[in-house]
Amino acid sequence: MANKITVNKVVSLSYTLRDDDGELIDQSEDGSPLLYLHGARNIVPGLEEQLEGVAEGESIKAIVPPEKGYGPRIGEAHEVPRRLFPSDAELAAGMQVVAHDDQGRQIPFFITAISDDTITVDPNHPLAGETLHFEVTVESLRDATEEEIGHGHPHGPDGHHHH
Ligand code: ZN
Repeated sequence: MANKITVNKVVSLSYTLRDDDGELIDQSEDGSPLLYLHGARNIVPGLEEQLEGVAEGESIKAIVPPEKGYGPRIGEAHEVPRRLFPSDAELAAGMQVVAHDDQGRQIPFFITAISDDTITVDPNHPLAGETLHFEVTVESLRDATEEEIGHGHPHGPDGHHHH
């Protein structure tokens, strides 16, 4: 029986991701597939759902609407004074930052532009509101270890490494 994707499998994928216009947004590097733990929400829910039951070696196309991808757009980008950030903070466009409100709740946002005096921040993930068009090949598949299941993510081929 073919080895198929189910909960607690570590899956190795090569993929391309395009937007509605067919523009390439992201892809796995040659020889360096994406590793994820199935059922642990390591990848967007819409892609994870469509990979359920897919066999090793198989390729699929998956179209994922925003609600099952990076969410609908919420709010708008706006500029804030740079002095609100620590002066030694290393900031870059594309970076995700977490602020805290006065109740200590976490508010994630993304930096989209930086000037000398201002930082443009956006509450939306860069892919929020986008329908995601994936082409995915399941390169390999194995059972997760107890440790990986406990951590909720796969460990690399060289053993345990964390970013
Ligand atoms: Zn770990």
